[in-house]
Amino acid sequence: MKLLSFRGGVHPPHRKKATEKLAVIKANEPKVVYIPLQQHIGAPCEALVKVGDEVKVGQKIGEASAFVSAPIHSSVSGKVKKIAKMKTPTGEATCIVIESDGLNTVHESVLPKGDISELSGKEILEIVKEAGIVGLGGAAFPTHVKFSPPPDTNIDTIILNGAECEPYLTADHRLMLEDPESIVYGLKAMMKIVNVKKAYIGIEDNKKDAIEKMLECVKNEEGISIVALKTKYPQGAEKQLIYACTQREVPSGGLPMAVGVIVNNVGTAAAIATAIKTGMPLVERIATITGSGIKEPKNLLIKVGTLFNEIIEQCGGYNGTPGKVIMGGPMMGLAQHTDDVPAIKGTSGILVLSPEEARLPEPEQCIKCGKCVEICPAFLQPVYISAYGLKDMYDKAEEYRALDCIECGSCSFICPSKRPLLHSIRVAKREIIAKKKKSK
Ligand code: SF4
Ligand code: SF4
Repeated sequence: MKLLSFRGGVHPPHRKKATEKLAVIKANEPKVVYIPLQQHIGAPCEALVKVGDEVKVGQKIGEASAFVSAPIHSSVSGKVKKIAKMKTPTGEATCIVIESDGLNTVHESVLPKGDISELSGKEILEIVKEAGIVGLGGAAFPTHVKFSPPPDTNIDTIILNGAECEPYLTADHRLMLEDPESIVYGLKAMMKIVNVKKAYIGIEDNKKDAIEKMLECVKNEEGISIVALKTKYPQGAEKQLIYACTQREVPSGGLPMAVGVIVNNVGTAAAIATAIKTGMPLVERIATITGSGIKEPKNLLIKVGTLFNEIIEQCGGYNGTPGKVIMGGPMMGLAQHTDDVPAIKGTSGILVLSPEEARLPEPEQCIKCGKCVEICPAFLQPVYISAYGLKDMYDKAEEYRALDCIECGSCSFICPSKRPLLHSIRVAKREIIAKKKKSK
């Protein structure tokens, strides 16, 4: 099979061995869950319950307050103990604290929705919206919004991201091996929503078993192709994946829909399948708990709202003093100040590094080697954007297309002078966006 790819990119060590062969196991039932009302990109939800209310699994407890938002559901049955602001992996949010009764009584609204052959595209879209489904690759963008393009947009292709190019993470890999049918069912549902006849599932070739499994699963499916991708970071980034699968280039500042494509993660497709087949909204997900700072790395099916420290405890606890706890992978993940935060829909993994691995090297002078420019998958000049950012010259940073940076971190990874390029580019982007908002 010919391997497809994109221009640029880097080759960080995979570090997936610890968990790639471990089947997903159900995490222990949490006694208490802390469910944030904001787990997605967009507006936070409004609480539908109050302290003292009894709730059931799958019950809607937070209503989306805007179009770009996604409802929140309870992952346990039990009693609402508190509604308060708490720390979350992405900052701070109002959380609904529920004490589980251990019974996992399912809410009456959780019922199979029928087969996709009987449902209209509009009905499937409504199911996706009501199930609170968001991108499970980590970005947590509400899925129903992606599937509601402006009426004049011509979408002709869906791409599922099974690349899982972040080092360490193996949650998508295991899902493709253990439940490929759900991925394909969810993909067919997506195709029906936007009436598309062509779809690709892109998988890096360091997951040959997953490629084989998915090939077998789609052999009788019309219009669905499996694309073997070169193992290279960031192969799973939207624009890079689109180029690898279709050779279409998303224009600067544009969205995938500008080239007729909608991209989703394989986990998102499986969540859609569950919502249609069983009626259960998005209340749990697979996450990889790994890194040298974890005693027994695992792939766990975790309930949204379970505390990181409880999840880590189920993996034998910390291996010595942890140096850094990250939600997600080492390249694009979010470093955490505490492990006392709840897992959210976007928790693809919990990575714990040792103090030695976590130590940031002392940055040195730029030696003008040009390596960061050579590998930037967005064809930017990170060295200049970073330099202008550090001098507070944000207009110049914008001229150098800072806003096209996909924050993949490849430039920081490759830099021989260990300059924290991504950090300064992020700051520049933030300032540029803030200035644009002010001038509106
Ligand atoms: S400038 Fe942005 S897109 Fe380019 S390598 Fe750096 S982080 Fe990635
Ligand atoms: S890779 Fe580092 S040292 Fe080389 S040009 Fe870019 S910033 Fe400078």
